[in-house]
Amino acid sequence: MRVTEIFHSLQGEGMLAGVPSVFVRLAGCPLRCRWCDTAYAWDYSAGTEHTLDGLVAEVGRIACRHVVVTGGEPLVGPNLTARPGLVDLTCRLKDLGKHVTIETAGVLFVPGLACDLMSLSLKLSHSTPLPADLAAEHERIRRDLEQAKALIETYPYQLKFVIESHDDSTEVMEILGRLGSVDRERVLLMPQARRREEMVERAPMVAELCLETGFRFGPRLQTTVWDNRRGR
Ligand code: SF4
Repeated sequence: MRVTEIFHSLQGEGMLAGVPSVFVRLAGCPLRCRWCDTAYAWDYSAGTEHTLDGLVAEVGRIACRHVVVTGGEPLVGPNLTARPGLVDLTCRLKDLGKHVTIETAGVLFVPGLACDLMSLSLKLSHSTPLPADLAAEHERIRRDLEQAKALIETYPYQLKFVIESHDDSTEVMEILGRLGSVDRERVLLMPQARRREEMVERAPMVAELCLETGFRFGPRLQTTVWDNRRGR
């Protein structure tokens, strides 16, 4: 399994924001979002190869109950197939007594995961990359909401939406309508912000949107605390 980095930090986003966690960042993502802050993890050959035993041992050496499996896109392997070894990895982490969060764009349903929290960040249209070939692939992948629906129906979940402007609420509502039964208390809106200045600029707009819609405000501690420094 290709791993870009393993590091100990605070969960920056979602309902567990602030909880000390070990992050396992797997290599590879087919989406290429316009504002992605982990482009170094896009390539499936990025990082270093780890055996399952070696990876579990390395995580186990850090005294921390929460593990966040992220990417890249952790659920998806090359050619839009389920990532090989992921089910085994989550089961082994559970055997160690870990709380396992998976951070995903929610574009592929994978059964059999040992997952305490499926953290879906469904992409809105402002995530689409500009080059035409990348844009077409991105749109094709992100619009298949049946995958996200199956994840939500199968695992404990939260839904995070990156908000760039007030108008994004229309698309959020459309997606929630298509997903059907979603617990609104598990929906978070968070500012599109790769840098601390962007967070300061957009947070008030997103906060007002949360008051209008009743959704939670989603922090991004990796941005506000560490200005997106790699490894934090
Ligand atoms: S899905 Fe996540 S890792 Fe992949 S390009 Fe988008 S923001 Fe980056």
